[in-house]
Amino acid sequence: MPDIIHVLSDAVANQIAAGEVIQRPASVVKELMENAVDAGAATIRVMVKDAGKTLIQVTDNGCGMSVADARLSFERHATSKISGADDLFAIRTKGFRGEALASIAAVSEVELKTRRHTDELGTRILISASTIDSQEHVQSPTGTSIQVRNLFYNIPARRKFLKSDHTELRQIINEFNHVALTHREIEFLLLHNQTEILHLPPSNLRQRIISVFGKSLNNYLIPLETNTSITNIHGFIGKPEHARTRYGEQFFFVNNRFVKHPYLHKAVMSGYEKIIPPDHIPSYFIYLETDPARIDVNIHPSKTEVKFEDEKSIWQILLASVKEAIGRNNLSPSLDFNKEGVIDIPVLTKNTEVQVPRIEINPDYDPFRDEENYRRDPEEHRSYRPDHRNRERVDDWEQLFEAGAETITAGNKYLQIKNKYILSPVKSGVMVIDQRRAHERVLYEKLSKAWENRESFAQQTLFPETIRFSAPDYQVCLELMPWLEKIGFDIRELGNNTLVVHGIPAELSGTRTREKLEKIIEHYKTLETVPETEIYDEMIRAAASAGAMDYGKLLSNTEIQELVDRLFACRDPNYSPSGKPVVKIIELETLDLQFKV
Ligand code: ADP
Ligand code: MG
Repeated sequence: MPDIIHVLSDAVANQIAAGEVIQRPASVVKELMENAVDAGAATIRVMVKDAGKTLIQVTDNGCGMSVADARLSFERHATSKISGADDLFAIRTKGFRGEALASIAAVSEVELKTRRHTDELGTRILISASTIDSQEHVQSPTGTSIQVRNLFYNIPARRKFLKSDHTELRQIINEFNHVALTHREIEFLLLHNQTEILHLPPSNLRQRIISVFGKSLNNYLIPLETNTSITNIHGFIGKPEHARTRYGEQFFFVNNRFVKHPYLHKAVMSGYEKIIPPDHIPSYFIYLETDPARIDVNIHPSKTEVKFEDEKSIWQILLASVKEAIGRNNLSPSLDFNKEGVIDIPVLTKNTEVQVPRIEINPDYDPFRDEENYRRDPEEHRSYRPDHRNRERVDDWEQLFEAGAETITAGNKYLQIKNKYILSPVKSGVMVIDQRRAHERVLYEKLSKAWENRESFAQQTLFPETIRFSAPDYQVCLELMPWLEKIGFDIRELGNNTLVVHGIPAELSGTRTREKLEKIIEHYKTLETVPETEIYDEMIRAAASAGAMDYGKLLSNTEIQELVDRLFACRDPNYSPSGKPVVKIIELETLDLQFKV
């Protein structure tokens, strides 16, 4: 038997390494930008074509490379940033593994031009699939410019896995922002197909955040600053009223490196506990500085994870810092969730049973109270939960309404409770309808029908609304546009991350167009793995959820009647589009039980 083990060629080894470091165009952008930062550039210009699938070019005015270094930079484990294992614990640069250029050159066609200011001539190297095609002297400005063409051209299987241009561009913008948020002193420029997407002049942190995420954020930033022997923390957190139900503006930077840290995220969330609704997430831009010896960033090839030596203490310090900042701004007492259309009612999950609505009374007041017999806790009487599991689903609505109904005084069949539930007497007891879910169901069926029949039903707005999005969200909007048009939006591009809304589906009309669009965008972002054929249903679901009335809305008798009529004209009035119960019946026997002595 011959020996069977052999050492892989450099080209193959590089391709394997590339699999870890370079997953998509955005990874190339990240690595090249980080190299430019490490090279001490004052200006970094990123230009991509076709979301980086055709071309990614990063140009800097940093230190440049010598002829020999330029050649060596494409070797695996070739780096100027560390030389021994000890250096791993004193890392101040973005890179140190010496893998990025080797990996990029293994899976694309690269042209490098570089010159140090001390050299008269620069160097130009062409390299593709790890093979040097040419190296020569050229005239070039100081600094480095790298062009990466046709990413994964030699690995069709990986190229096939790239997503749509909008999705890939969104990822590029995210990576661009991560680097831009760590180096405010550097000027950054991002162009896509010749269009300027972001231009960030050198500025302070607050200004940089605003240039990336939009001016409106300015009023919502609370500065954060805490210095301890273990870590120094600075940055900004969002005011509680700015918290949203979506992710997007949550950033940790450790020693000026963007990292994901679910554990520390929880620390921030704890700082906001009880002052924002439970499903909301605050914005934050938090920078932690610590002795590099106390952290390990080498636990993941893309270095987006970091391990702290003393995670628990950092957790405590961060939590205290966030609480202090919120307290200092004395925001808590001025909170008014109702302004945001949210009230403090428990969120019902799929299996929660509807409780008998509680009536606000003074439990101590009882004109007939017999001091002798009144020993039981009044709470006990009121916390009774009905058992109506046997009546999960109501199928015969007509029969349900046959009797009862006319018995509420004031001539109404319906009673709205807590601006949340609609109550009505029915044959077998009391029917309780969740008003928001009912509306969601109605909208969902209406939008679905319009989609199936291809009816266009955009309602033109009197005053077109101009909405500026963050750069990544704007890309999502562009990708979403065809879907939005199909469900009845009339939206046009204005450039500069701005859209103009000329019409919205009649069913969703009203105020807060931006919020509705944001909710739809947020939902769309979660759909990356959903097959194309199912996206339309998801989009309609998201639109219905975004357009449905909030709890807390007081309804007139006519509005209630209309909602109930439309609900029971639906194919499935029992459940909301996401499968939560809409209608429950509290049986007469259940009520009777309440009055048993
Ligand atoms: P790392 O950044 O981990 O050292 P890379 O493969 O990204 O590894 O780069 C290899 C080396 O090439 C770097 O250590 C640096 O010396 C040099 N280099 C890469 N990009 C630039 C640049 N834009 N300007 C100057 N030198 C660069
Ligand atoms: Mg690098």
